[in-house]
Amino acid sequence: MQTSTPLASNEHEARQLLARLAASPLPHFINGIAHAGSGATFTNVSPVDNTALGEVASGGDAEVDLACQAAAAAFPAWRDMPGDRRRALLHRIADAIEARARDIALVECMDTGQALRFMSKAALRGAENFRFFADRAPAARDGLSLPADEHLNYTLRQPIGPVGVITPWNTPFMLSTWKIAPALAAGCTVVHKPAEWSPLTAQMLVEIAHEAGLPPGVLNTVHGIGEQAGKALTMHPAIKAVAFVGESATGSAIMAQGAPTLKRVHFELGGKNPVIVFDDADLDRALDAVVFMIYSLNGERCTSSSRLLVQASIHDAFVARLEARVRQLKVGHPLDPATEIGPLIHSRHLAKVCGYFDVARREGATVAVGGRSSRTLTQGNYVEPTLITGAAASMAIAQEEIFGPVLTVMPFVDEADALARANGVAYGLAAYLWTADVGRSLRLARDLDAGMVWVNSENNRHLPSPFGGMKASGIGRDGGDYSFDFYMETKNVCVALGTHAVPKLGTA
Ligand code: NAD
Repeated sequence: MQTSTPLASNEHEARQLLARLAASPLPHFINGIAHAGSGATFTNVSPVDNTALGEVASGGDAEVDLACQAAAAAFPAWRDMPGDRRRALLHRIADAIEARARDIALVECMDTGQALRFMSKAALRGAENFRFFADRAPAARDGLSLPADEHLNYTLRQPIGPVGVITPWNTPFMLSTWKIAPALAAGCTVVHKPAEWSPLTAQMLVEIAHEAGLPPGVLNTVHGIGEQAGKALTMHPAIKAVAFVGESATGSAIMAQGAPTLKRVHFELGGKNPVIVFDDADLDRALDAVVFMIYSLNGERCTSSSRLLVQASIHDAFVARLEARVRQLKVGHPLDPATEIGPLIHSRHLAKVCGYFDVARREGATVAVGGRSSRTLTQGNYVEPTLITGAAASMAIAQEEIFGPVLTVMPFVDEADALARANGVAYGLAAYLWTADVGRSLRLARDLDAGMVWVNSENNRHLPSPFGGMKASGIGRDGGDYSFDFYMETKNVCVALGTHAVPKLGTA
């Protein structure tokens, strides 16, 4: 085939990979082997043109039960495997991910609509997640020595057991590794339920892991609809904890579903994250970061800064520069190296995002740029990058997570006003702050209701640092040792030195 442009060449390569994945319905992967399940399937479509990428096995109670039993049976041996052997195995998985990073990126682009410029890095970050937690596997059980006068207390950590991992469709490969790698490093076995709108790279991950030597049953993947396969997983008695990434409303449902079996839960949920720009900030760097943090990854990112709070004194000038940048963003095919914004994940999500443009207009805000689906790219779920100005804090576009390339701008007067606006939403995941005033940055970092605050920076990740949200944005933290705290039980052992007086009863 003639491949004349980088896009054509990338697409040709991607289509070959996709054809292999679509040869038969994408199976579950249970106890080390592909498993067709009951025969029920759902159709996976590409956001690029809404054509079918193939059928996917749709799991229910029976498949989830089989996977949970496999995870339970594999748990004792995996738990007892020496940490350095687990470390070596997880590094082999990282090696294999790196070797297939381009394949993963190409498939992810076609399955999710994310641009290749970002997905090529996301696949490599997946390998990095495995390496990071692999290196910590040998010491994951280490605890504290807490001596008292006549006793020595010491703590041990042990893996909690088989866990459920439920992931969303935005950057699914990277996010899955972020949850699965620490679980495996801790000594837990896993049943993974990937998002039904982006199942393909989860399949690549489980296959890669087994090719690298992961024992059967340690990582199992069950595809399916959230309210069927996902729900069954959260209710299964063999599953001791559920690590969930997705919408806040789904988190509430999972908490209720897991209550009868007292599931430990970890939730990474939605966000409506503010970026606050003061007039003393380095405005060139702030502008770059503002544009990047809402328009990269199609705005389908939990930590996207979807609310720009800009000081009134610089509002008009800053917004004028912002408008010019938004107009120049390149919307296109995700496999075109020039593309900055690809199609949204699904036609239903496109409709949801576009619905907010009508809401914005009805509520009296100004759609300064964009505000409609693409006029030129009509086959797929393409939307024009959108900038909304003149918004009031109470408007739906300033309160609700839109999860697309849509930025809502509001002016603020002073520090107190900025803080009140930033905190005045249900969410509390991330906040970004641009100012040259060190004292102000420290005060706001202290007072912002957000699990993560970046000062004069975009979302810069450091794997040992805690990642997670407050309020409706989540429960618990990932990253470094925080991940192990979730996947492990901490046990205290209290040993007497033999000198203390044991209380005597019945001696009188
Ligand atoms: P979603 O909640 O619709 O689905 C996420 C997963 O949950 C899917 O696998 C789905 O099948 C499953 N699910 C749905 N209903 C279920 C149920 N009743 N029981 C068990 N599982 C169920 O979320 P989404 O639309 O796929 O993802 C987008 C959302 O994820 C956004 O709100 C985004 O902010 C959030 N997110 C948060 C973070 C974070 O770190 N805080 C990261 C990425 C995405």
